[in-house]
Amino acid sequence: MDLSTASSEQLQQWHRELQQEFKAFAQQNLNLDLTRGKPSTEQLNLADRLDGILAGNYSSGDGTDTRNYGGLDGIAEARKLGADILGLAPEQVLAQGNSSLTLMFHTVMIGMQFGLQGKGTAWKQQGPVKFICPVPGYDRHFTICEQWGIEMITVPMTPNGPEMDMVEDLIRDDPAIKGMWCVPKYSNPTGAIYSEDTVLRIAKLGSIAGEGFRVLWDNAYAVHDLNEPKTLANIMTFCEEFGTEDSVIQFASTSKITHAGSGVAFIGASTKNLTALKSVMGTFTIGPDKVNQLRHLRLLPDYSALQRHMQQHAEILKPRFDCVLQHLDRGFGDNDLGHWQAVDGGYFISFDSRPGLAKNIVKLANELGVKLTPAGATYPYGKDPEDRNIRIAPSVPSLEQVDKAMAVFVLCVKLASLNQALGN
Ligand code: PMP
Repeated sequence: MDLSTASSEQLQQWHRELQQEFKAFAQQNLNLDLTRGKPSTEQLNLADRLDGILAGNYSSGDGTDTRNYGGLDGIAEARKLGADILGLAPEQVLAQGNSSLTLMFHTVMIGMQFGLQGKGTAWKQQGPVKFICPVPGYDRHFTICEQWGIEMITVPMTPNGPEMDMVEDLIRDDPAIKGMWCVPKYSNPTGAIYSEDTVLRIAKLGSIAGEGFRVLWDNAYAVHDLNEPKTLANIMTFCEEFGTEDSVIQFASTSKITHAGSGVAFIGASTKNLTALKSVMGTFTIGPDKVNQLRHLRLLPDYSALQRHMQQHAEILKPRFDCVLQHLDRGFGDNDLGHWQAVDGGYFISFDSRPGLAKNIVKLANELGVKLTPAGATYPYGKDPEDRNIRIAPSVPSLEQVDKAMAVFVLCVKLASLNQALGN
């Protein structure tokens, strides 16, 4: 279907055919959902051994009774697991409660209100605060900024990570930029892995920016490979080279490894940052859920157990991702109605339609009973300036459901594109 060279009769003919297809789907009363990136029930089942795994033995490796208060840093073996995931030393990592998003929110809160370098360094005392946000990106990062009144400056994502020339220029020119969000491996939603050069340049930002600048390195998909595991360059190693260790704070969690609602989250950073964070964290908690940390370590005692576990996730997820990619290839491989990147991991496929169509595509799909993430969700304030990006999340529906939902998706993209071409 090449809209640019087709005659108007041809366009009309296609339009009639697609409308027939649309009507046929409408009669099926579908109820399918490609919205949030959460694990499917089958994936959650993989970690069900967590329940009862302690069998009454609550002692961690160093003899700590995990049932009791205390231990703000998390138990030693959980810090080691987090360190292995993030490529850090265990003493650079805190193991905490179930949500890395909470840790990100708290980090921004501490940066804003109290300062990450001690008294008098709070961002709020230094005028307006801005963050760099690569787009398309993770909606909840943007919501954190919105909540704190932080202005978001968008920078385009490329297949190698954020457009770094632009990032460096912005940071050089504007001291109000105090932070930057990054999802460096299997980025949400594009699935891009930051190249080694990008990681190096991000590690160097701390030497261009003021002391208060922090990269929030959200490595949510560090071990979530669908194919052969891919290696992300180690940002802390570069930071050590440039003396910028304080400029990066890292996050990860087991949310998409074990049970999403009751996992363990990690924060990894320099001693200076951890001290600043802990001085505030210690006022709102006496310590994290160490019993849950211990349960996790019984299930995943070391990194190779974790890798084997992730392999089982991949076996469940890969057919769903392959199915999405096949539909996109078949529908748009030979025309310019859609652009996307094949992904090797993570939870999403990011699709770009022709400009001005995303909202309409989502609406059409909804009319056929296929829920898609609202158009614009991958941009700050929910506003995609070109109205073209749609995030596809195929983990939850069954393979058959993904297959059907994608047939509907492809139809809706074609129909919206034709409507536009015909000026309807
Ligand atoms: N970061 C990214 C990039 C995510 O996609 C998600 C989940 N959608 C999270 C963080 C949430 O992590 P957690 O469950 O640890 O709060």
